[in-house]
Amino acid sequence: MSVNSFGAKADLEVAGKNYEIFKLDTVPGSESLPYSLKVLLECLLRTEDGANITADDIRALGDWDPNARPDKEIQFTPARVIMQDFTGVPCIVDLATMREAIADLGGDPAKVNPLSPAEMVIDHSVIVDFFGTPDSFRRNVDVEYERNRERYQFLRWGQTAFDDFKVVPPGTGIVHQVNIENLARVVFPREVTNADGQTVLQAYPDTCVGTDSHTTMVNGLGVVGWGVGGIEAEAAMLGQPVSMLIPRVVGFKLSGALRDGVTATDLVLTITQMLREHKVVGKFVEFYGPGVSEVPLANRATIGNMSPEYGSTIAVFPIDSLTTDYLRLTGRSEEQIELVEAYAKAQGLWHDDQREPRYSEHLELDLSTVEPSIAGPKRPQDRVLLANAKKQFRSDVKDYASESKLDPTDEAAAESFPASDSPAAPDPALDEPVGTPQVSLLDKAKGLVSEVAEKVSETVSDVAQQVHPTRPSKPVGVTLSTGENFELDHGSVTVAAITSCTNTSNPSVMIAAGLVAKKAVEKGLTRKPWVKTSLAPGSKVVTDYYEKAGLQTYLDKIGFDLVGYGCTTCIGNSGPLIPEVSQAINDNDLAVTAVLSGNRNFEGRISPDVKMNYLASPPLVVVYALAGTMDIDLDSEPLGQDEQGNDVYMKDIWPTTAEIEGLVNTSINADMFASRYADVFAGDDQWRELPTPEGKTFEWDDESTYVRKPPYFDDMPANPEPVGDITGARVLLKLGDSVTTDHISPAGAIKADTPAGQYLMSKGVDRKNFNSYGSRRGNHEVMMRGTFANIRLRNQIAEGTEGGYTRDFTQADGPVTFVYDASVNYQKQGTPLVVLGGKEYGSGSSRDWAAKGSALLGIKAVITESFERIHRSNLIGMGVLPLQFPEGDSAESLGLTGEETFDITGIAELNEGRTPETMHVKATAPDGKVTEFDAVVRIDTPGEREYYLNGGILQYVLRHMAQRAA
Ligand code: SF4
Repeated sequence: MSVNSFGAKADLEVAGKNYEIFKLDTVPGSESLPYSLKVLLECLLRTEDGANITADDIRALGDWDPNARPDKEIQFTPARVIMQDFTGVPCIVDLATMREAIADLGGDPAKVNPLSPAEMVIDHSVIVDFFGTPDSFRRNVDVEYERNRERYQFLRWGQTAFDDFKVVPPGTGIVHQVNIENLARVVFPREVTNADGQTVLQAYPDTCVGTDSHTTMVNGLGVVGWGVGGIEAEAAMLGQPVSMLIPRVVGFKLSGALRDGVTATDLVLTITQMLREHKVVGKFVEFYGPGVSEVPLANRATIGNMSPEYGSTIAVFPIDSLTTDYLRLTGRSEEQIELVEAYAKAQGLWHDDQREPRYSEHLELDLSTVEPSIAGPKRPQDRVLLANAKKQFRSDVKDYASESKLDPTDEAAAESFPASDSPAAPDPALDEPVGTPQVSLLDKAKGLVSEVAEKVSETVSDVAQQVHPTRPSKPVGVTLSTGENFELDHGSVTVAAITSCTNTSNPSVMIAAGLVAKKAVEKGLTRKPWVKTSLAPGSKVVTDYYEKAGLQTYLDKIGFDLVGYGCTTCIGNSGPLIPEVSQAINDNDLAVTAVLSGNRNFEGRISPDVKMNYLASPPLVVVYALAGTMDIDLDSEPLGQDEQGNDVYMKDIWPTTAEIEGLVNTSINADMFASRYADVFAGDDQWRELPTPEGKTFEWDDESTYVRKPPYFDDMPANPEPVGDITGARVLLKLGDSVTTDHISPAGAIKADTPAGQYLMSKGVDRKNFNSYGSRRGNHEVMMRGTFANIRLRNQIAEGTEGGYTRDFTQADGPVTFVYDASVNYQKQGTPLVVLGGKEYGSGSSRDWAAKGSALLGIKAVITESFERIHRSNLIGMGVLPLQFPEGDSAESLGLTGEETFDITGIAELNEGRTPETMHVKATAPDGKVTEFDAVVRIDTPGEREYYLNGGILQYVLRHMAQRAA
């Protein structure tokens, strides 16, 4: 309970109920804070404990200087945790293990539960194996269950065993869409027990962390939340705070309104490009101004979703009447809606478009200037105006098409470009020589490849390109098993996917897609036969309103049958392309394209066969499926012909804003949400019939290669042993600068000749079923073997190697061996291990296994020039000591080779409740040379000291639970 040093505790009565709240206006300076920082301030007021969260922290936030560089660390305790199945499984594995551990300490396993509500949506595992038929959905779900049975049984056990942990079963929806449509409370009502043992009903802002980067979608509802790694999520689930710096906040002023024909996707692609250019990494972005009320809630959510694409921590909208309207539409109770409004108004969190809070930086967008756009071919910020899409494609495809020749039909079309285009706006891509016939003829004529001739040919090529923008072309004949014939070429659209909660949560763009399908069918158009089409909404409500609007039938007619309610193509689960199409692409190295309504389009992410990926609104996805190529000017070239042979253009099938709004208003209602979400945690028959282990503890299957009990709590005493010095340690790795968490714990493919591959083969797993490290996060045996197994890792101890190698000094002459194999030998000997690193050790995305794997390999300390902030705290969370070389020193400057034996002294001072600023390190080389230095201790808070003294955060929490239960 809060020590309440600001006297902030107060009552708020709403609809006959009394809530305890913590008043923000008791803190000087709070009134002019940005919305997002007010939410953090409330959290500090409510959780002030005088030790980890102090009155000084609260004052620092009230006094926030928008122009200062962030350096003040605070402890943020989110109201809840949201997870998807890929990253959430290891969290539940750890909780299940804690249950057994508490029993070993004499406690009741049933007492181990999330202390903050935790919800998981199983959405990441469905793959589009089947498409374009009425039974595609059922068949995809069947295969999904076959593939994931072990994981699902485990999660089903978790769903029944843990309080305050709920699972949304597969085939129901996508995590962030389910979050905004149902799980988000906006203002959280929760009964808590105060210091006197009384139960009080509190109300506070809904905040969350999630194990998925697009957790920020919920920012659209005014909920402050973002994606974190597994250890932070587990800590939050167990009621522990997340360490963070008070960030800079970018105020993004909106004015005006979107024009007719411009979609939410166009808006978000515009904002993504603007914020990318502005550079917002690590900052909060907050929308304000009169234009806020012109942005429908669904569009706000779409914008929030793409926060990771532009790099900000969050991209939040304040609470206003549109928020409460959306809560009403999605079936939330009137009591909850009243609470949201009353609380937000009482705390100054309700949007006031005349108010301009203190912001660190400013940006502005007039919504009326947004134009229809797509983004690609490989980055979400590479926005292309739809009007320029063909021209840009022709320029970009040259980077992807290996062999090419000029397409004569395109030469004619090319001439139709205004001659002034190229000279007036030279395209950098046109400066690159390409293999056009003009160039090859010229080269042939010269018959030599001298430098001079090359220069001439490049110049000729440049001139030719500027006058006649052309494209590489390599038409390849394909015959499908149905006997259908067509030509495939560079640029052919082979995947058209209405996917991703980014857009499927937004009824206006989904209805627009359905209307495009309807008008296309009425004009006699259909998808091109080489396009793999799919519709994967993020909730079943989409199906309800499609049915009510009568649009699903038209989508089905052109191949957009339902394939699943899950991430599918957005996460790369697009499944195999049409086999003959795939064969032609690979045989001829064609640079084909995918068009999807997702948020990421990095090369190779969508399909291994597809090089160029474009993000587009759902209606444009349908349009490109009809066109079958990116090499089309949608304004001037027809998509096909109607039954009378007349050309049909995009404008003929594009709906008006009035048509879309009309159908949105008549097809979607609160009853749909209320009935779909009434039993959202129940699941279908397959889920309910899944044989599920029962009991307070999980019965681990020794044969499982996906879910295994980790050894974190093996032989753990009830009280921690005092910590002591590290003596006789050997160096497992000596690394350079910018070693990322992906170097430490790769997520990708498992190679057969690595320790993880060998382990899987020893368990009878075929190579083709190895799957990735990412999917085996529930099995520590795989993950610790994969630690430091990145094929690009350069361990300076094992000079000349690349990959997960080291030298094993337990053996004569220290032969080069796998990192894992050496660590096993060191652990057998009882030899502690250290890692030497350079600058920014552990940068990249937060990855729990980078710290967990380090701990399981027996690493006791990591000494670097600097740490990435979250990885540093994760190391402490796993009981690994983070130390830094003295300022200005490094392993190199100190002459360390990694062959030394290390002694680290001064650790015992932590037992006295003090964290020393430095600890003494003595490194003794094989020739007896001694190097000594005082390393800076990077245990930064009293809470972190407690975690370290307990051997890690999980052990700390577990012991506290055991003590409370005693
Ligand atoms: S649909 Fe895409 S953005 Fe949404 S949760 Fe799935 S992978 Fe993440």
